[in-house]
Parts: sequence; structure tokens; C-alpha cells
Amino acid sequence: MSDIIQLLPDHVANQIAAGEVVQRPASVVKELLENAIDANATEIKLIIKDAGKTLVQVIDNGKGMSVTDARLSFERHATSKIRAAEDLFQLNTKGFRGEALASIAAIAHVELKTKQVADDLGTVIVIEGSDVKSQEVSVTPTGTSVSVKHLFFNIPARRNFLKSDTVELRHITDEFHRVALAHPNIAFAFYHNGSELFNVPQENYRQRVVHIFGTKTNEKLVPVEEETEVLKISGFVGKPEFSKKTKSEQYFFVNQRFIKSPYLNHAIKSAFEGLLKDGYHPSYFLNLMVDPKSIDINIHPTKTEIKFDDEHTLYAILRAAVKHSLGQFNIAPILDFEQQSSFNTPYNYKDKTAAAPAIEVDRSFNPFADDSSSKNSSPKTSNYNNEYKSKPTPAWESLYVGLESKSNNSPSDFSEVTFESATKNESIFNDSTIETAKTTFQLQQKYIVSTIKSGMLVIDQNRAHQRILYESFLKHITIQEATSQQLLFPLQLHYTPSETKIIQDLKTNLEHTGFVFSELSTKEITITGVPVGVPESEVSIILEQLISDVENDVPDTNFSAADLLAKSMAKSLAIKNGQSLNSTEQEHIVNSLFACKEPNVSPTNRPTFITMAVDDIEKKFM
Ligand code: ADP
Ligand code: MG
Repeated sequence: MSDIIQLLPDHVANQIAAGEVVQRPASVVKELLENAIDANATEIKLIIKDAGKTLVQVIDNGKGMSVTDARLSFERHATSKIRAAEDLFQLNTKGFRGEALASIAAIAHVELKTKQVADDLGTVIVIEGSDVKSQEVSVTPTGTSVSVKHLFFNIPARRNFLKSDTVELRHITDEFHRVALAHPNIAFAFYHNGSELFNVPQENYRQRVVHIFGTKTNEKLVPVEEETEVLKISGFVGKPEFSKKTKSEQYFFVNQRFIKSPYLNHAIKSAFEGLLKDGYHPSYFLNLMVDPKSIDINIHPTKTEIKFDDEHTLYAILRAAVKHSLGQFNIAPILDFEQQSSFNTPYNYKDKTAAAPAIEVDRSFNPFADDSSSKNSSPKTSNYNNEYKSKPTPAWESLYVGLESKSNNSPSDFSEVTFESATKNESIFNDSTIETAKTTFQLQQKYIVSTIKSGMLVIDQNRAHQRILYESFLKHITIQEATSQQLLFPLQLHYTPSETKIIQDLKTNLEHTGFVFSELSTKEITITGVPVGVPESEVSIILEQLISDVENDVPDTNFSAADLLAKSMAKSLAIKNGQSLNSTEQEHIVNSLFACKEPNVSPTNRPTFITMAVDDIEKKFM
């Protein structure tokens, strides 16, 4: 038999390697940014078109390449960063495999322009699918510019596999955030389709975090500093009351490299023990510096995992450092940041007796208008936990406007239920004409039990209410019938640019539910109207929930965007388990549920009720 083994041609080998290194435009962004950092750039520009599908370009002012190096940089295993295997254990650079440029050039049209500072002229190389099309001398600034066009042009399957622009841009933004956070000493700018998404100067770490996550972030940062023989920690954790429902603000950098570490994440979570509500996650932006010898990052070129020699020690030090910082913060809120008046508000209010709920008679009257936390909308809206604690009574009482039979909750229950009560939707309860026949009762403040002809009905109150609200929101969105209530004071909210983008994308749908935006820019969101029945205090929660839902399940089509919005708002506003309901409210839920198109399931497709036939009950007595 003849020999059948052949060596793969280079361009094929490169395409295969590319599959590993380049999954999507964001991978190109990561590799190019890292190369720019390794070249000691102090200014880096990222230019993207069509979420990277048409263009990814990175321009740096780093050290550039010589003519020969420029050509060599596209060869596989061509790297200037290691010379011997031992160097792998002393790495201070991001790259070392010499694979990225070769891989990218195998599956895209690449133009490289580069010049070293000592040279008058630079080099321009054009490569398409590993084919060098041209190499010329050119006038170009010191540094390097790499543009990557038509990614996956020769692998249509890969190209078709790319997600919507929204999703791909999100991946790119995530990479950009990680790199920009790890390198505050480098100035970054980021443009997408001609508009500037970020432009951050060289700055300190706190400024960088605030620039990326929005001005509201400043007040929530608690510094963490620790230096031991094996580990140096610096950075910030978020104050517990600013914890989020998503893990979107969790950043570990080890030697300025973004990593994911469930183990170290656990160390932080345990430091926050007892300080976080269920389902909330701490924010953190932490830099760990360790001896490069003590870690192994050589696991996978694109992965963000890392192996530490001594994980247990790191865990213990990290946990202690975070605990210490949080402890200091609790005892003395003034560290290196200014004390915000809003931090005091909840504690003052906690001891106050319930004020007369003036809001009952006049919805637009704001009994806290003279309170600093109400006037200053920025801290107020960004801190909804304080918000809840600061005015439990009006929110609670307002639910019962017009109801004859008040809930027989004693005031002492208030402290436990304030959080839930504020999330109720008043509009469904203010119809006093419903007859309060005693055909329903509540079980465990979770289920509504009612009789039906054939037996018994047990309704999950939260899921049922979600269904009711969901159908009503969806109707408003799709038939575009907005019922809005005007706010007395416009509500200003601040989000990160990428969060703002999500709201902008959903603007029309939000308006159909009753939201009115007077401004919706990256600097600020101003809301002047909200859907009828949505308390003002709920607005920031609804939007936060919405953002986190979109982040976890980015809708591609208009329909699913509307659907997601309706689901998200229903989830935020539905009455919760543990909420006691009087019989009028119970009846109303039952009636509204069965007026729904699909009463059987919640918006997330879980049963809303079960029935038990008399026959079945009888069997139990046999
Ligand atoms: P690696 O980064 O793993 O070395 P790459 O394929 O990303 O491999 O880059 C190959 C080489 O090209 C680098 O080692 C470096 O010498 C050079 N290079 C790439 N990008 C730049 C840049 N922006 N500025 C200067 N040199 C660069
Ligand atoms: Mg590289």
C-alpha cells in the first residue's frame, strides 16, 4: 500500500488553529488589544464596524515592528515574547504562542501598518486568507495599526454562526471592559459604527472603574488593599447594598490578566456572608499580583482560567482582606470617599413611626420632597434598597387606596414585608366593587385556595399575578396603547453605556407600556412618565431587572424584545410569595387569572394552579 500521510499545507494548518483562537469578532479584539499592550502602548484605539463583522481595527502608539518583524509576525509560532521553554514560567506579557496574527490572517482580510520610533518610514502589509497580497514602505505614525476585515470570509459556516450585532457587540464590549479595567495606565477609545462608546484617559484605578461603570459607581466602592509575601491585592468591592442580581460586575485580574475563578469568587462571597440578600451578587474589581512563577496560565490560548500553586492561601488572604475592608466600612463609613447623605437615610427612617400616608389622597404629593435623598435623584435611584427602607409606609398603604376592608396585618409586620409590599402593583387592587365573598383563602401567604364545581383550586399567587401582568403589558406593547402617569419630578438614572444601549434598543417598546423618556443618552436617562400603577420607587428596579434579563437572553427580533420586556416587568411587579392578601385581592387574582388567554401557565411556562377533584379527596378518606 502506498503512503497516505501528508503534512497539512500551512494555510490549512492556520485555518485549523484559527478555529481555536478566533471564535467571534470579540476574540480578534482581545488578541489585538493584548498585542498593543505587550507593545507598551499608552494609547489604544478600537474601531469596530457592524459589531466586528465588517471591521475590527486596533491602533496603538506602541513600539511598532521592523520590516522583517512585520512580515514574520504573521508566521505561526512567530513570537518575540519567549525564546526558551523556561521563559514560559516568567511571563509578563499577554501573548506568547505566536498564533494570533497567523490565525486571524488565515480567515480574514488583514492590513498591518507599523513603524518603530527610530524609523522614518513604516511598513504596510496586506494579507488575505494567509496570502500576502502586498508589502510596501509607507508613511505611518509610530506604533501599529491592524485592521481585520471580512472575518470568516472563507469559512461561511463560521460566519453564519455569528449572532446578531447586539450579541456580538456585547461580547466585544465585555472584552474591552476587561482589558481597559486591567490597564488604567493606558488611555483607551472605542468606536462602533462611527459613534464613540468609550474614551478614557490614563487615570487611576478608581477613575477607570467609574468611567466604565458610570458615575453612580463611585459612591459604592470600598477599597481593598493587602500585601503579603505571596500576594498583593488592590482594588474595590461594592458596598453590600449595591449588590446586583447579576454577576456582571465581578472582575478578577491576576497580573493584569482577566480571569474567572469560581474558587476565589467563593472567597469573596463568604466575606460578604450575612450582608447580601438572597439572589444578589457582590460587585468586585480586584487586582491580584502574584509571582508569575506561581501560576500557570498556559492552559488554553483564549481561556480565562488559571492555575495557582497555592489556592488555599490565596483564598484565605482574599477573604480576610475583603472582610477587613467591609468591616472598616461598617464602623466608619468615611474612608477615602465622601460620606453620602443617602447612606444615613434608611437608618433614620427605620426608627420613625409610620407617617400618615399622605400619598393616599394625592398620588403626586411627595411627602419626602424635602428630604435630601429624594431631591438628589442620583444616589436615590441607584440605591433601591435604601429607597425601600426609607419609605415603607406610603408604598404599603397606597396599595389599599379605595379598599374598604384593609388587610389585617399588624404594623409590626411592616418591617418584614416592606420589601415585598413595594413591589406590588396597585392598579389591580383598587377596584372596591368586587364582591368579597369568602370563597377563597390564602395558604402560607403563597397560595390562593378556592372552590370550584368539581373540587378545589390551588393557585400560586406569584405566578398567577405574573401571568396577569404579562398579558396586560404585552397587550399594551403590541397594540401600542400607552397609559402613562406623569412624574412630579423627572427621574434621572445613570447606567453604563452598554446598559444604556439596552434601554435605547427597547425604548419604543417601553414607551408602549407607558414609560416616557425626556432624555436617553449615554450620559443620562431621564424619565418623566411611568406606566399607570407602577410606583416611582419601582422604576429603577424594573429597568435593572430588564437589563439583567436582556443580558442573559439577548433578544434578536422585535417580537421577542417585546415579550422579554413584558416578562421582565411582570416578574418585577408581581406580588411575591410571603405577601398576605385580603379576600378582595385574592378574588381579584382568581378572576383576572381566568380572564387571561393562557391562565394555566406563568410567562415562564410553569403551572399557575393545580386542581384537586372531590373524587380524589374522597379517595384519601377511604
Ligand atoms: P504573540 O502575541 O503570542 O507573540 P501574535 O501572533 O499575537 O503572537 O503576535 C506575533 C508577534 O508580532 C508578537 O510577538 C510581536 O512581536 C508582534 N506584534 C504583534 N502585534 C504587535 C503590535 N501591536 N505592536 C508591536 N508588535 C506586535
Ligand atoms: Mg498576541
